[in-house]
Amino acid sequence: MSEIISKDDLLRLVDQWTGQGKRAAGPIRIKSDVVLYAPIQSSGDVQLDGFLRPRNSIKEFIFPRHEKLYGYKVEGRKIELCDVEPVVSEQLIIGARPCDAAAFPILDHVFNWDFKDEFYNQRRKATTIVTLACKEHDKNCFCTSVGLGPAAESGSDAMLLDLGDGTYEVRCLTEKGKALFAGKTRTSDKTATVPPGPKKLFTKESIDAFFASDYENPAWQQMTLRCLGCAACAYTCPTCHCFDIVDEGNAACGTRAKNWDACQFCMFTAHASGHNPRTSQGQRQRQRIYHKFEIYPTKFGEILCTGCGNCTRNCPVELGVRPVLETIETLSVAGGTKA
Ligand code: SF4
Ligand code: SF4
Repeated sequence: MSEIISKDDLLRLVDQWTGQGKRAAGPIRIKSDVVLYAPIQSSGDVQLDGFLRPRNSIKEFIFPRHEKLYGYKVEGRKIELCDVEPVVSEQLIIGARPCDAAAFPILDHVFNWDFKDEFYNQRRKATTIVTLACKEHDKNCFCTSVGLGPAAESGSDAMLLDLGDGTYEVRCLTEKGKALFAGKTRTSDKTATVPPGPKKLFTKESIDAFFASDYENPAWQQMTLRCLGCAACAYTCPTCHCFDIVDEGNAACGTRAKNWDACQFCMFTAHASGHNPRTSQGQRQRQRIYHKFEIYPTKFGEILCTGCGNCTRNCPVELGVRPVLETIETLSVAGGTKA
């Protein structure tokens, strides 16, 4: 037995939500071949099928690209600081992929480690995430290699599974999910079949073995020589979370703001002296992979990657982590990791 909802009723639920003046976001077709997660004005905008996955991730609805932290005014010798309350309102994200939702329990660690980021936490609390289980994958998906899958429930408040007849099985996973669908579903004897996910591309053991012995391996440079340093990988990644804090304004007034940044930019590690400890793109790529698969798991016990494949799909030279990890797996399994 399961709880189900028709597509029409689901879209009506979205309209009721936005009709109350609340924010909603979901997959929207921007161009004939581009679907992005974007704010929804009406349920007619929402795309639930006909594409693999949106090109961006849902992190921007909880960790926005630009965020004011506080304002300042300077008058003579007097400096006034003006607090900015986090802009938080209840929001619904509908039709997210499981590999997007799974990023938040991973990111919760870093935003609550040595400092509790109230901007992030308040948005997280005010957001209800309804995922849609995947029915297909492409060669860049590797969720099963990082312990997830097409219907992985981590980070979802409710999950929809397409029954193929204009209805969805609804699995409510948290109190927020239960509240959203209360009274909106009906009991059915239909249950969804979850398709197998992508085949596993690597094991943590072989990646760990390579990391332990091959930090200086020239293969790092060879594997990543074609990287352009554009950071499309990081900006569309559900789990990349680097940011920079900058003052935007002039000597009289302005704002201190938090803006997305990325370890693939050559200026990311530039010191004020002009020295830059990461001089090549190969070093920057190695850092990104080590951070995701070694440093973050050691510190927080979780791989900083959900296997969504966005970093390769959106890369102008088809790099991202998937080809690098496949090469590492091959080198590691061959046992001759020294190039
Ligand atoms: S891996 Fe690809 S997307 Fe990432 S910085 Fe390099 S070229 Fe850009
Ligand atoms: S590193 Fe690549 S595959 Fe992993 S979560 Fe980020 S975009 Fe997705």
